[in-house]
Amino acid sequence: MVDLKGQYHKIKKEIDDAVLSVIESTQFIKGPVVKSFEEKLAAYLGVKHVIGCGNGTDALQIAMMALELKPGDEVIVPAFTYVATAEVIALLGLVPIMVDVNLDDFNIKIDEIEEKITNKTKAIVPVHLFGQNADMESILRLAEKHNLYVIEDAAQSLGSTYQNKKSGTIGDIGCTSFFPTKNLGCMGDGGALFTNNDDLAAKIRMIASHGQIKKYHHSVIGVNSRLDALQAAILDVKLKYLDDYATARRTAADRYDHLITTSENIKTPKRNKNSDHVFHQYTLQSDQREAYIKKLKEKNIPNNIYYPIPLYRQEAFKRGNEDLYLPNTEQLCKTVFSLPMHTELTNDQQEFIVNQLLS
Ligand SMILES: *Cc1c(COP(=O)(O)O)cnc(C)c1O
Repeated sequence: MVDLKGQYHKIKKEIDDAVLSVIESTQFIKGPVVKSFEEKLAAYLGVKHVIGCGNGTDALQIAMMALELKPGDEVIVPAFTYVATAEVIALLGLVPIMVDVNLDDFNIKIDEIEEKITNKTKAIVPVHLFGQNADMESILRLAEKHNLYVIEDAAQSLGSTYQNKKSGTIGDIGCTSFFPTKNLGCMGDGGALFTNNDDLAAKIRMIASHGQIKKYHHSVIGVNSRLDALQAAILDVKLKYLDDYATARRTAADRYDHLITTSENIKTPKRNKNSDHVFHQYTLQSDQREAYIKKLKEKNIPNNIYYPIPLYRQEAFKRGNEDLYLPNTEQLCKTVFSLPMHTELTNDQQEFIVNQLLS
């Protein structure tokens, strides 16, 4: 699905030098490399604060802790997403309230949010799925009307722009992941939180560091979640290429669109007008998904289903959701499949893939 080796080899010298210099420095935890990367990412995003952490899941958890959400509080999430988004909600004793998504852009369905808001609702967590931002304008309007926090899950959308703002910098807190296959991937685990709010930034730093306000003084229960210096050094190199990576992905997506348009049975991904698309995934929809996947498998062409099961049907989330049936989520789980999508895809590779797909 990705070509991490090809991507690495193009910038091997820079990455190797950056990694070796951290090893020489022996400053593996915190230190200047982490600080410098946080500052550069903040400048790139146009946000006041970037706080590194251990991974994207931790980022979401720390965000909810920083907003002081309490057991029993309800948090609105799309039902069609990666498990992490809802998992941390449940882990903190909060209640994930699942909402359906749009069939065309896979993002949370705005006109079904309001009917799920109760006096216990405290936050909305839009997930900018597959690299395209949810309708943030409407989400912010609802959040303001009902006095809710907005935590953006920008794990798949880093670098994309909504209107004139970067993904993850629009709500109260943005969260992202640097998992190797994400658009800005490190070589292990990593994550970050973004905010323009000074108080929240301080709280996030404190929580990510054992709730510590100064050494051996702990004012709240926190966690231990750090972006390590080796990963920060790698990310610092790769951040320079993030816009080029997005361009390569968009070019590849346009090529797929062009090659696939001839087929009536397959729906190609829609582009929204308020958001650009950084194509974390290139996701098709078809009633005949199984037949297409079989074709791809004949030639060992990678493909994947993100996501095959609605969150509320997962064993872990069944309780309380027994009667939930969200038609678009159900439909997407049965019809979506994703093609290889990465920064190194060539025209020839894509022609080969699509020829086999439509053969
Ligand atoms: C990858 C991902 C996460 C979790 O990130 P990790 O770094 O793997 O913990 C959360 N939400 C979404 C939408 C993701 O794609």
